[in-house]
Amino acid sequence: MTKMRVKQLLDGFKKRELSPKESAKDLLKKVKEENPLYNDFITINENIVKDAEQSEERYHKNTPLPLDGLIISVKDNIIIKDMLTSCGSKMLSNFVPRSYESTVIEALRNNGVHFIGKTNMDEFACGSSTKTSFYGPTLNPINREYTPGGSSGGSACAVARGHSIISLGSDTGGSVRQPASFCGIVGFKPSYGILSRWGVVAYASSLDQIGIMANNVSDIAAILQYTYGEDDRDTTTSNVTLENIDNFLPIDVKNKRIALLKIDFNSLESDIRDEAKKIQEIIDSNAKKLQALGAIVEEIDIPLLKESSEIYTILSRAELASNLAKFDGTRFGHMTEKDVDIKSIYYTNRDEGFGDEIKKRILVGDYVLQGENNARIYQKALKIRGLIKNELDTILNRYDFILNPTSPILPFKLDKERESKIADMMLVYANLAGLPAISIPCGKIGEFSVGMHLTSKRFNDGILLGVSEFIHDNLN
Ligand code: GLN
Repeated sequence: MTKMRVKQLLDGFKKRELSPKESAKDLLKKVKEENPLYNDFITINENIVKDAEQSEERYHKNTPLPLDGLIISVKDNIIIKDMLTSCGSKMLSNFVPRSYESTVIEALRNNGVHFIGKTNMDEFACGSSTKTSFYGPTLNPINREYTPGGSSGGSACAVARGHSIISLGSDTGGSVRQPASFCGIVGFKPSYGILSRWGVVAYASSLDQIGIMANNVSDIAAILQYTYGEDDRDTTTSNVTLENIDNFLPIDVKNKRIALLKIDFNSLESDIRDEAKKIQEIIDSNAKKLQALGAIVEEIDIPLLKESSEIYTILSRAELASNLAKFDGTRFGHMTEKDVDIKSIYYTNRDEGFGDEIKKRILVGDYVLQGENNARIYQKALKIRGLIKNELDTILNRYDFILNPTSPILPFKLDKERESKIADMMLVYANLAGLPAISIPCGKIGEFSVGMHLTSKRFNDGILLGVSEFIHDNLN
């Protein structure tokens, strides 16, 4: 039932072939049985059946809301009122917001959506495996010895296992698209400014976006339709009307111009290089299929993109260090049980509350912002970010989409160390330039799925989704 499309599910409710309450009951049972196997949820909403009763009543009265009875899961850095928002960190392991929730959650709730729970993630969204979570890693839904990717790995696993038809994640440098690719589902990061981040715990504010994960593209459009737009509480949101979202339709790829991004993998370590080449072959063969469907495909190289991982590292650490400065345990968050004096309390709370990866990143962030490093490193990175953005804008004036592998590597074993930098090397450019981007499953190597990544012009989200729906239906 959970592999159903949103539209089918809602039609089933309308025709009384399905019941929101019974669906919620079945889902809760499944999630409770399987969460110990996959660890995809940090919090499960035990009240979901009661919540779904409200939808049931509205259907009985023939006054349903547009998404009435739909149940989704939400990454644990997006605030839902009265539910723990831990961000996968000990620091916030006691943080239950009581008086407000994020704009996007509020919009979904007002349209009849319910929330089955909060999904596991890398601590403060820092990582590509969920291994930095205070709650332990999520396991890959296809093979539990492997990572589901990250940082929205809990969300990706939840969708792949049918623990929710849709999940909201967050994407600062690939955290929705990379786990989507590792778990064989679709993951979408909208343009910067499309979805409000009010009520989302910030990692790197100039890069963060809420992303949507689902089994197919049309379900993503269904969520976007009711959540996007300007929000006074997040001044980075834009007042744009997205094409092809209100009456979403697939868009034929015929005559679309696609730039096939070629990256030189030779600098990668040998085991990774071989994997990357195999993945690239799958992307290339898909590009040929798109050509056969009438798309115009040309290979391009963007030399400046080699710098994107380094630039992302500098900027994201700098913004993380300043965003996390507020967590000192004195107003909310982890408070030490040690008997320490007032001077050491901040230090001790932060030392106990943050994991190693976060501490390392804060150190790097403080370093690049400090004294003369600010001009030498941080300001310079900002300038290169501008150049990357200009270069991408120029390319996207010539082409409708850029195509590349979502990840140059397959899911790796949980006991293996892999740098985030490699997992995200094909993804961060979209965040640096504020572009919409999507990962769609497009083939397999062994038991794991491979994702193709498409990027488009800023605010072209509806067209990107339309073409992606067409591609997903025609290539799979
Ligand atoms: N893996 C990247 C990082 O660790 C991206 C994370 C994200 O998008 N939240 O920074």
